[in-house]
Amino acid sequence: MKTDEVSADPERAFWLLSDETRIAILRALWEVSNDPLSFTELRERVGNPNSGQFNYHLGKLREHFVSKGEAGYTLTQAGREVVRAVLAGSLTDQPYMDAEPIDSHCPDCGAPLIVRYDEYGIVECSECENTVMWNEFPPAALAGRRPEEVAEAFDKWTRNRFHLAMDGICPNCACEMAVESFDHPEEGGPATNHRCRNCKYEARVPLFGHVIRHPAVVSFFYQYGIDIVNLPYWELRTLARDFDEIVLTDAPWAASVTVTADDACLRLTLNERLEITNVETSVD
Ligand SMILES: [Zn+2]
Ligand SMILES: [Zn+2]
Repeated sequence: MKTDEVSADPERAFWLLSDETRIAILRALWEVSNDPLSFTELRERVGNPNSGQFNYHLGKLREHFVSKGEAGYTLTQAGREVVRAVLAGSLTDQPYMDAEPIDSHCPDCGAPLIVRYDEYGIVECSECENTVMWNEFPPAALAGRRPEEVAEAFDKWTRNRFHLAMDGICPNCACEMAVESFDHPEEGGPATNHRCRNCKYEARVPLFGHVIRHPAVVSFFYQYGIDIVNLPYWELRTLARDFDEIVLTDAPWAASVTVTADDACLRLTLNERLEITNVETSVD
C-alpha cells in the first residue's frame, strides 16, 4: 500500500466523498470486488453521467480511494474501508428500535430486561435504572433480525470487542490498546480502563472479565453445566454478583477474583499486566 493512502488528511478525505457521483463510483467498484473496470464500464455502471464531469470526479477519487492499473480502475484499501463504513450504515443511517423484551432478567432487581437501539445498542432493566450493556453497534445489525436476535448479536459483537481490548488490540483501528487506569470497588466496582493510543477508543472492563476466559474458570463452570464463554453478558453479570473481587495492592497493582458455584470456589490472582499469577481451589 502506498503510504499516502493511509495518511490522507481527514478533512480532505471527507470533502472528496461529499458527492453522490463519487459515492456511486466507489459502490460500483465495490460491487465487482477486485475486478478492474475500464473507464467506459465504470461510467456505464454509474448511469452514464456526462463524460467530462465523470472524469473530473474519478480524478478526485484517484487521490486516495481509487487506483488505476493496466487492466482498469480498482478500489484502494482506503476506498474499500469507506464503502464498508457506508454499507455498515455508520455514516448514513440513524435507525431506531423501540424497547422490546428479551428472555433474561435484571442482575440487580430480577425484572425483565429490554433491548433497544438509539444510535447505540442498549440492554437495560424494564423497571430499575440499571443499564446492563451500552455500546457502539453499527445500524446494519438491525437488518433482518428480530429483537431477540439483535440482543444476541449485540452481546457477541460487544464481547468480542472487549476481548480484543483486553488483549491489547483496539477493536476500531487495531493499534495498541494499553491499560490506562485501575478503578476501585468504591468507584462503581473494580475495573480496568483501556485506551487506544491512536484513535482514543476507550473500554472499561470489570475485573471479573479478565478471568472468565482462563481454562481453570471455564472448566470450573463447565462442571456445573455453565458455558461461561458463551453466557450472555447480562447473565454473566447475574452470576458475577457472587464473585469476590478485591484489589490487593496499588503499587504495583494486584487483585484477586474468587468465582463461586454451589459450595466450591476458585480464586485467581492478577498482576498489573493482567496476567493470572495464581489459581487456588477451595471449598467453603
Ligand atoms: Zn432492574
Ligand atoms: Zn484505535
